[in-house]
Amino acid sequence: MAGRISVLDENVINRIAAGEVVDRPASVVKELVENSIDAQASSIQIDIENGGKKLIRIRDNGSGMSHDDAFLALERHATSKLRSEKDLVGISTMGFRGEALASIAAVSRLKLMTSDGSETAGTEIVVEGGVMRKAEQVGMGTGTVVEVRNLFFNVPVRRKFLKAPGVEAGFIQELVTRLALAFPSVAFTYREDDKLKLDTPAVKNTLERIHTLYAKDVRDNLIAVEHSVGQALLRGFVARPPYARSNMRSVQTFVNGRSVRDRLINSAVTRGFANLMERGRYPLAILFVEIPPEDVDVNVHPQKAEVRFVRPQQVYDLIVDGVYKALTGAPFTFPRGPRDPILISPTASVERHLREPKQPADAELDLTQGPFAQPQSAAASTLGTLPHQQARFERARRFSSLGVLGSLPGSFLVLHSDDELIVMDHHAAHERVLFEDLIRCQREGSDVEVQHLLIPVVLEFSPLEARALAVHLGLVRGSGFIIEEFGENDFVVKGVPVWLGNADLNEFFGALLEVILDTAVKGDPEQLKMELLKGMACKAAVKETSAMRPEEIRALLVALDRVGSIEVCPHGRPIVVRFPFYEIRKKMGRK
Ligand code: ADP
Ligand code: MG
Repeated sequence: MAGRISVLDENVINRIAAGEVVDRPASVVKELVENSIDAQASSIQIDIENGGKKLIRIRDNGSGMSHDDAFLALERHATSKLRSEKDLVGISTMGFRGEALASIAAVSRLKLMTSDGSETAGTEIVVEGGVMRKAEQVGMGTGTVVEVRNLFFNVPVRRKFLKAPGVEAGFIQELVTRLALAFPSVAFTYREDDKLKLDTPAVKNTLERIHTLYAKDVRDNLIAVEHSVGQALLRGFVARPPYARSNMRSVQTFVNGRSVRDRLINSAVTRGFANLMERGRYPLAILFVEIPPEDVDVNVHPQKAEVRFVRPQQVYDLIVDGVYKALTGAPFTFPRGPRDPILISPTASVERHLREPKQPADAELDLTQGPFAQPQSAAASTLGTLPHQQARFERARRFSSLGVLGSLPGSFLVLHSDDELIVMDHHAAHERVLFEDLIRCQREGSDVEVQHLLIPVVLEFSPLEARALAVHLGLVRGSGFIIEEFGENDFVVKGVPVWLGNADLNEFFGALLEVILDTAVKGDPEQLKMELLKGMACKAAVKETSAMRPEEIRALLVALDRVGSIEVCPHGRPIVVRFPFYEIRKKMGRK
């Protein structure tokens, strides 16, 4: 019998590795630009077409490679940056694994043109899906051009998972901005489909770079941060709180020159801003942490976006104290209070929304059918309605007949039926009701009650956020928003659905964008849609801590009857916890 185990062929290994190193066009750009930076380039041009799916071209004026090195560079684990294990401690170059070029070449049509100026001609090599197609000499000056065409042409699954070209381009633009911040002495140009998007000359320092990258109102409100603890140093800039954004993407952090997105750092920044900021708002911050290379492990993640600190507490304190010191030391105006009463009051909105079932009571929403079928209930529908389900259903229908005893201090409602004490999470309950209504709107295209704003609200986004939102504008409009694109990155909201209540628009859209950009369900549009509706419902629902007036509670109970037997919120948390009287009596030692 032939052996079952065979050594994977090199090409297959490269394709597997590619999955870790490159997951989207932006990660290709990252690897290639980092190579240019490692090669001491002082000018880097980035061109992409169709969100990088069709073409990514990076041109640099760095050291270039000799003829022999050019071939070596395309092999896996070929690197000029690391010779032995001990070099792993204290890495100062961006790359070091020696797998980027080989991995990218395995999943695209890659053309490398390079010259180190020592030979009469440069070298051009074309690799397609990991297979060498062409190698010849070209005339060119010192430097390197890498062209990546048809990314993932041979990995259809991954290609399918890519987002719309505009969104992929947004990721790339965000990345180039971060790299430009980290390397002010390098000139960058960035073009999308021949349109110049970023053009920033070489400058002396980060502040000058910020001036060429950000709008004037941001520049005018920056506060310098400088703080050190032991050998750890924090420097950078934060914007005064009024220039806050609605999600964490506005926080750009770098560790020893590497752009990272790290939980610990993010929570430290948020902490530093605590009490100076409304909840749900995040600072605009550009922060550089410098620590001795042996105090940080950058080798935990192939894309090197995550890091591990030897002394996490030290880094945490460094950031919290540094940011806090900068903010409190500088005069600033507090964020504006709640928005002007353009919107109807929260109480009125809850009531109005919860008022009347839009459908006859017996036309219960059946989640087991239609495009929004939920997996967990799908099984139930094929089994038919079981007696116990019927009982639960009956019980659920009686929400409106429950007695209201009050609420726990600062949280849940306390209700009762004839035989149970019932504690209800009113946030979860409202969330469920809103979610069901949103689903129905999407499914039936039915009209949503809209509140026109007297003064339209302009929402500002980063380029990436703006594009991501543009892609999902249909869903947002279908949910009752009157929203239009306004300038390059802004949107203007002229009307909001009544169900939104008085939820803060910035916070609401910030949360939505987080769902669009960060959920793991990127591949499945239907699932993403569900996540978005859940996010909307969650943001608009009454907060767990807000008290409800008796008539609101009534309205909520009536609305819950409509939802039928579903006693969990869209995120799966229970809406009610029941304490049967007989159990209470038993605990009391009574029969
Ligand atoms: P790594 O960057 O981890 O070393 P890569 O696969 O990205 O691995 O690159 C392999 C090698 O190719 C690098 O170590 C470097 O010597 C060379 N190289 C890649 N890109 C460039 C470039 N733009 N200019 C000069 N040399 C480059
Ligand atoms: Mg590299």
